[in-house]
Amino acid sequence: MADNPVEALDVAVYTVPTDAPEGDGTLTWDSTTMVLVEARSGGTVGTGWTYGPAACADVVRAQLAPVVLGRDALDVGAAFHGMLTAVRNAGRSGVVGYAISAVDVALWDLKARLLGLPLHRLLGAVHAEVPVYGSGGFTTYDAGRLRDQLQGWAEAGITRMKIKISESWGSRPRRDLARMAQARVVIGPDAELFVDANGGYGRKQAVRVMEAAADCDVRWFEEPVSSDDLDGLRAVRDAVRPDVAAGEYGGDLTYFRRMCEAGAVDCLQADATRCGGISEWLRIAAVAASHHLEVSAHCAPHVHAHVAAATPNVRHLEWFHDHVRIEQMFFDGVLDPADGALRPDPTAAGHGLTLRRDVAQRYQEGSP
Ligand SMILES: [Mg+2]
Repeated sequence: MADNPVEALDVAVYTVPTDAPEGDGTLTWDSTTMVLVEARSGGTVGTGWTYGPAACADVVRAQLAPVVLGRDALDVGAAFHGMLTAVRNAGRSGVVGYAISAVDVALWDLKARLLGLPLHRLLGAVHAEVPVYGSGGFTTYDAGRLRDQLQGWAEAGITRMKIKISESWGSRPRRDLARMAQARVVIGPDAELFVDANGGYGRKQAVRVMEAAADCDVRWFEEPVSSDDLDGLRAVRDAVRPDVAAGEYGGDLTYFRRMCEAGAVDCLQADATRCGGISEWLRIAAVAASHHLEVSAHCAPHVHAHVAAATPNVRHLEWFHDHVRIEQMFFDGVLDPADGALRPDPTAAGHGLTLRRDVAQRYQEGSP
């Protein structure tokens, strides 16, 4: 009999409208769905979440709860391995991986709270703070909204800022270039300008766009071509000045090993709300380290703050507009990117966040 059995694994789905129409090079959207898992042992609750389809909740209930409930909450590794084993026939990546991620994060938070430790210290803290970059700059924004967002990040102390390019699958390169030029003017010469094409360009188009944007001094070129085109990423990487990054869709350790082995990126991205949670993130960071690469955390900043602080080869994490907005609405205890970095609270147990149920319930779909 487990000393601290996981007694409940509750899951809820929340859909939050965006504050304006949003789009990148290859997708548009007007809402964001969060699937939130609460793992309980005795009177202690750990919270984890992913940003993915509502179907993740069905996976948690039907596929994952049966192998997690009853296990000792301190044995997160056993639960993680049990979940990976249980989903063999369902498939590991995509919705299933997102669901595993939410449960894994909840279990790590639960363990830290049971032990009375901040999560980054349970994981083995390396950094007191983790640099962030502001992320948004949607192709749907007009010049005024883009300016206001960039200036807001600058006023918050953020010195790296990312905008979306490759509008409409790369069919509007002149507007891409104009928006990069505007962003450079707004943020001034000292801040770092990042761009994300979300896989919308072709190989040579990506190189031509970056040549034409030479005056903008872009430092980060995310998914210039499809993340599945590892040879293409490598070709662009060899031809352009900014660092090439990819990895946000990666769903298992092998995906990341292949990306690293292909020499496809200057910095590996990974998302603990997609790849398999904190447990898999730490293994991915080790794979990256073995290829002498740093990792950057994709989205969900409050999921990543603690594990990033416990990752020696972390570069930064993404202060993504949609997720920042939702996490600030839904949780007490959120972090402040003062001076362009997050500092996990060394005195709060777990990830230090408390769900504001009154707020969250306004956005809840169906019954939990
Ligand atoms: Mg991206």
